[in-house]
Amino acid sequence: MTSTTVRSVCPYCGVGCGIVMSVTDNQVTRVSGDKQHPSNLGRLCTKGLTCHQPLRESGRMEWAWLRDQRQRDPVRLGIDQAIGQTARRLRAIIDTHGPDAVALYVSGQMSLEAQYLANKLVKGYIRSRHIESNSRLCMASAGSGYKLSLGADGPPGSYEDFDRAEVFLVIGANMADCHPILFLRLLDRLKAGARLIVVDPRRSASADKADLFLQVRPGTDLALLNGLLHLLLENGHTDNAFIERYTEGWEEMPAFLADYAPARVAQITGLAEADIRQAAALIGGAKDWMSCWTMGLNQSIHGTWHSNAVCNLHLATGAICRPGSGPSPSPVSPTPWADGKWATWARACRGNVRRWSKPIAGSSRRFGASPPAACVPRRAKAPSICSGRWQRGRSRPAGSSAATRWPASPTARR
Ligand code: SF4
Repeated sequence: MTSTTVRSVCPYCGVGCGIVMSVTDNQVTRVSGDKQHPSNLGRLCTKGLTCHQPLRESGRMEWAWLRDQRQRDPVRLGIDQAIGQTARRLRAIIDTHGPDAVALYVSGQMSLEAQYLANKLVKGYIRSRHIESNSRLCMASAGSGYKLSLGADGPPGSYEDFDRAEVFLVIGANMADCHPILFLRLLDRLKAGARLIVVDPRRSASADKADLFLQVRPGTDLALLNGLLHLLLENGHTDNAFIERYTEGWEEMPAFLADYAPARVAQITGLAEADIRQAAALIGGAKDWMSCWTMGLNQSIHGTWHSNAVCNLHLATGAICRPGSGPSPSPVSPTPWADGKWATWARACRGNVRRWSKPIAGSSRRFGASPPAACVPRRAKAPSICSGRWQRGRSRPAGSSAATRWPASPTARR
């Protein structure tokens, strides 16, 4: 009997927890949390703790099926034979039409190891340019919002920010159920005195832990985000020095934000005006604050503008690119930003475990025309993640049609 341990990453949600697999006679017999992994520091939720079970008894087909001709029924054959047959057919296609005749469409649900192999196969062996993933679609609006606002689509924060933030704005995400280990980290911080704002049309398990729960009318997030920025400005909670130095286009914002007075935002969102004011006061009064969002914000025809509006709040308060602050989208699948041409970002973005080895705050010379290196994902060709461009997504008045809602967005206009 041979036993060993193998370190890997949980194949389920986007938190990216490190696992240690106990392997006996080539079978994974047990999984435990990797205490050295910066995402989870040894913690695992039930899904992670039981992730070896499908490896042992996956319930998947043990035979391949081959259809010789389209009109015929498939016939059963062994996996090895099927792989050999597939390889021969691919070889013939490549020999006849060249490597770019082959494309792989893969998934964010693949493990890191599977992602690595898929990329290696396509780029290293087949030498095709074409590998794409469903994850790009999944996170496209978050990435587009980042690019629109910050000039690069890599998350500028880190999980370590959770240990320093004073206020969390969780919007369009039920972290308690969907990112449980990260939520535990957030709860640890709440015990130390941090405050939690949850924005969601549903009362979720995350909302139950909130200091302030904003149960918005579905589809009105953008009005709320613009309304919060209106109040941050009105309350004198904007960081004017940061805005002046690192952003462009702010001069148009006050006139734009005038449309988002609390009374009107309350009318659009269905929230109490006092609650909107309280949320703005919590954010504005925090030295460091984080926003966490996921598909409730992203997967919408306005998803790009949602991401952009969240970034606007951070740029206005200067709460970005420093420990304890930043906009942080949480992918739901394990390798969402690790597929295809973004494969090199796997370690940087998955689990957002980039370390702030040196505090950015206080070293202002590291900002400026060249962003701090820690802010820019490796290989990103970002003009400057700290040079925010103000973009304005408009929210429709209650009762108006979606066609008038996003004048800046051609897709939404259609
Ligand atoms: S939180 Fe996500 S990554 Fe971590 S153990 Fe649970 S399912 Fe796996």
